[in-house]
Amino acid sequence: APQTVLISGCSSGIGLELAVQLALDPKKRYQVVATMRDLGRKGMLEEAAGETLGKTLTVAQLDVCSDESVAQCLSCIQGREVDVLVNNAGVGLVGPLEGLSIATMQNVFDTNFFGAVRLVKAVLPGMKKRRQGHIVVISSVMGLQGVVFNDVYAASKFALEGFFESLAIQLLKFNIFISLVEPGPVTTDFEEKLLQQVSKAEFPGTDADTLSYFRDFYLPASRELFRSVGQSPQDVAQAIVKVISSARPPLRRQTNARYTLLTTLKAADPSGRLYVRIAHCLLFRWPRLLDLGLRCLACGCPRTRVWPW
Ligand code: NAD
Repeated sequence: APQTVLISGCSSGIGLELAVQLALDPKKRYQVVATMRDLGRKGMLEEAAGETLGKTLTVAQLDVCSDESVAQCLSCIQGREVDVLVNNAGVGLVGPLEGLSIATMQNVFDTNFFGAVRLVKAVLPGMKKRRQGHIVVISSVMGLQGVVFNDVYAASKFALEGFFESLAIQLLKFNIFISLVEPGPVTTDFEEKLLQQVSKAEFPGTDADTLSYFRDFYLPASRELFRSVGQSPQDVAQAIVKVISSARPPLRRQTNARYTLLTTLKAADPSGRLYVRIAHCLLFRWPRLLDLGLRCLACGCPRTRVWPW
């Protein structure tokens, strides 16, 4: 029988792509429940789903921030059995800390962290009873390392990493696997939504130096990073399909080879100094090298040798 895969946040981006790729599986191994907070936004998914709609893919409402919505969604799934849960719904937040309200920060945690926890609490009893299941979490490279002006977003992804790594140890007893997928920059609506928020925001109470570091250094560097090493949501979805279909799913899977150098810096120096200093220099001292460097290091070309460290 096909496996029931429940995915959150499927109205756009990675969630939409993943839902469609799984629904199109040539061996028809998956029955996809593609969920979204606002069913008014299902048009793009339905169009991409094509003839899988109503067959290997169904669309359902699910707000990961609402207990009622989660209960209602699960009650509509036959036998309430979810074999694979994909926690994909997420929101970003960038900007100087001083200018962000606690309520805005809490919303990030409510969606990115507690949203995933809420879904896991709902499906775990069934998975444990059946001694079978796979929980996939769309984390980020920012779940592994901090990134300037992404303090709260990175913290929410670090929270997921700690939570699910802890849970994975217990769940081996139940034959339930956890996989944290860690994409680098992905060219979805995500970045655009963030930039829109930022262009409207004034960040009250932030000093002029910090604002200038954010607007004149971080924002252009971030745009450049997405342009140069950004992955398509199709590529990321493909990597997630591999994780889901794997007989022994990995606990962690990074999806962007061009980004691994930066994530390795942290492992290379447990004191943390190396990563923080290089990240600082890339932004403030050698901004043009960020793009060049990521490209060269990804392909290992000779230009790498001219890097100033
Ligand atoms: P996206 O904005 O296209 O997708 C996020 C989805 O989550 C949207 O469809 C949104 O409506 C949904 N969502 C937000 N709040 C929700 C809620 N309360 N209930 C249900 N759904 C909700 O962006 P994306 O890039 O496809 O992001 C998907 C995941 O990938 C997120 O968890 C994000 O943190 C992660 N990620 C994105 C990037 C990137 O650069 N785009 C990089 C690494 C990780």
